[in-house]
Amino acid sequence: MVPKKALITGLTGQDGSYLAELLVTKGYQVFGLVRRSSSSNLGRITHLSDNIQILSGDLLDQSSLMDVITESQPDEIYNLASQSYVPLSWTQPALTAEYTALGVSRLLESIRRCKPNAKFYQASSSEVFGQPDESPQTERTAFRPRNPYGVAKAYAHWMTVNYRQKYNLYGCCGITYTHESPRRGTEFVFRKITHAAAQIKLGLANELRLGNLDARRDWCYAKDAVYGMWLMLQQEKPDDYIIASGKTYSVRELVECAFSCVGLNWQDYVSVDPAFYRPDEPVQLVGSIDKIKTQLGWQPQHTFEQMVELMVDYDLKKLSNSGA
Ligand code: NAP
Repeated sequence: MVPKKALITGLTGQDGSYLAELLVTKGYQVFGLVRRSSSSNLGRITHLSDNIQILSGDLLDQSSLMDVITESQPDEIYNLASQSYVPLSWTQPALTAEYTALGVSRLLESIRRCKPNAKFYQASSSEVFGQPDESPQTERTAFRPRNPYGVAKAYAHWMTVNYRQKYNLYGCCGITYTHESPRRGTEFVFRKITHAAAQIKLGLANELRLGNLDARRDWCYAKDAVYGMWLMLQQEKPDDYIIASGKTYSVRELVECAFSCVGLNWQDYVSVDPAFYRPDEPVQLVGSIDKIKTQLGWQPQHTFEQMVELMVDYDLKKLSNSGA
């Protein structure tokens, strides 16, 4: 049987690396669009280097996207590339729009011209809801983005829906809530905390400064999220789905859990620093997973506690081995 071909943008990121693993396991021929960098950014995918083909391209450059699609002739395209850090979107709003919003226009237009029968997944985000008027949010909840990243993701979301309606392209948006893993950057609060708990346990640090401990988030595991993305493109008809855990936990609960994994009392190490308060913190972002559960049979396979434990364990091992 001829293997299916998939093209992943954002291959070098957290989700791209897990999705590539999943698709390789499923027998796909996997292509990844990677932008040129003067130093290597392939750390998350080195173990896959024999099984994936890297093609050079950039969401800022339309002709490179058309070349990559023409060369790879993918059955499925997963757009995971974006400027994905919300605070940076306030200091670089125009660049965020170029990558995260207009980049998707360029990609959709390239698909329409070069491979109109490819199935397309767009990485949408719960940040499109911003300050929602209902909780939990569903696929029908109004978009009220409250930062440039959310605005750019809302644009990309609606462009995907519009190309579906106007050109009959197979395009799906996965509205993902925060998802985490040992491959997440330490600038994101979940990994910042699990990493710091491991560092403090090993005597490599002695304090952790955080923002609002009462902020609540809907966190799920990145491997579970990418499985939901793949499921979405296996349907006959395209549609949009929320991918979330459907539960919230506070930063305080996360800290307690991470420090208890290493046998320490968090109150001895954690201090609150207003400098880390996120501007315009959205309230109660939590996703309803009724639709994806009923229609695609998807639900998270990892609990909050399991995620915390496996991420703390990962950092304990990594830091111990590196002798850092
Ligand atoms: P990530 O780790 O930050 O990865 C982002 C990827 O985008 C990297 O591979 C990066 O490449 C690539 N990229 C950035 N600008 C590009 C450009 N101009 N051209 C080509 N590639 C470019 O993000 P993630 O956590 O895997 O998230 C995947 C997607 O889901 C993103 O669209 C993100 O916004 C969205 N999302 C994520 C979460 C979450 O909790 N993780 C939640 C909601 C939505 P370099 O290696 O070259 O920088």
